[in-house]
Amino acid sequence: MMECSICREDPGSHSFEKIHETETMVYYYTCPGKASRYNDLEGIINHKRLELSKLNGKSWCWIMDGKGFGLKHALEMGIGIGIVGLLLEFRVSKIYVTNRSAYVDVMRLFLNGLLSEELKSCIIYDDGIYEMLGIVKI
Ligand SMILES: [Zn+2]
Repeated sequence: MMECSICREDPGSHSFEKIHETETMVYYYTCPGKASRYNDLEGIINHKRLELSKLNGKSWCWIMDGKGFGLKHALEMGIGIGIVGLLLEFRVSKIYVTNRSAYVDVMRLFLNGLLSEELKSCIIYDDGIYEMLGIVKI
C-alpha cells in the first residue's frame, strides 16, 4: 500500500489517519495542532489524497479536531482551500468538528465562500463522535 513518505520518515508530520471503519464507512481523523509540518501544503494534500485513494468504494467521514488549533493554523489558507477540494472530489459524507475554538471558526469563515450548501450541511460540531464510535477521545 502506498503511504506518505514524509510521515514514514518522520511520523506525525501530517495528521490524517483512519481511526475507525465499518462495512460501509471509513472515519479519518485530523488534528492540525498535533502535526509537526502543519504548513506543508503539498505534503498534506498528497498525504490525504493517498489515504483517500484507498477507500475502495466505501464512504468516509472526516473528524477534524480543533485541539491546539491556533492562529498559525487558521492562516494556512492554501491548505484549507486544498482540503475543501479533496472534500468535494472524494465526496465526504460528514465532517465532525470537535474541540471547536475561535480559530477553527476563523478558518471556517475564510472558507465559507468555497463551501457548497451540500458541504455546509455535512458539518457537525459535536464532541460526541468519539463516544458514538466507541473509541477513546484522542
Ligand atoms: Zn504525511
